[in-house]
Amino acid sequence: MPDDSELNQPAQCDIVAFMAHPDDAELQCGGTLALAVSRGSSAGVVDFSRGELATRGTPEERAVEAEAAARELGLSCRINLSLPDGHLEDREEYRKEVVRLIRLMRPKVVIAPALADHHPDHMAVAAVLDRGFYLSGIAKYLPELEPWRPNTLLHTMGTRPGIPSLVVDISEVYPARKRAIDCYRSQFHQPESDEAQTRISHPEFNDWVDGSLRHYGFMIGASYGEAFTSAMPVPVSNPVQQYSVVPWKTLHKES
Ligand SMILES: [Zn+2]
Repeated sequence: MPDDSELNQPAQCDIVAFMAHPDDAELQCGGTLALAVSRGSSAGVVDFSRGELATRGTPEERAVEAEAAARELGLSCRINLSLPDGHLEDREEYRKEVVRLIRLMRPKVVIAPALADHHPDHMAVAAVLDRGFYLSGIAKYLPELEPWRPNTLLHTMGTRPGIPSLVVDISEVYPARKRAIDCYRSQFHQPESDEAQTRISHPEFNDWVDGSLRHYGFMIGASYGEAFTSAMPVPVSNPVQQYSVVPWKTLHKES
């Protein structure tokens, strides 16, 4: 586990999530990142902004919470680009930043926000990643860095209706995912808080999140699932082995 000074430095990561705000990665794909780490892979998160427009908490509090959450997920690095919260868009300078980090971190799997979502920042990061993912493999684009093309780009499901391309069974790491989300005390429900109520600080927000994970888990016979879309079909090298287990008969544990 990297120490405090190393966590915010780009490190080689097998899987990297690029998200708009600190806590987006935990809410959208924290289980998938924690599962990758538990299987021996390295995982990282790149947050585009510091969440300075958030109704509750401060960017400084959010940074401390994000670091604590990174440790719960077992991340090798967590980088914040300090781009303007609420004003993210698909711009050349942001694509260059993404390409630079993909080439330094050399992930096999890249996760981006949903292409359709209620939050414009999320959709903006998704658009930047669609371009950046491709450009990172082009040698004459930022020629000072060696090109790197990840094997796949996955998008999270967001808050608009959609059909997943794949669902990751995150049941065994659900507790770690929950602990990571709970690190963001400034954002979520605290009975003693007198700050303004938001959608995510509503007392039922955690139930909505769990309901979504249960919904996608139900689709594959698992207790909890995180769903993704992919423009490419998911390659399967051994279909019999892939479907050799009836998931609901081998549920990790009832929670
Ligand atoms: Zn967000």
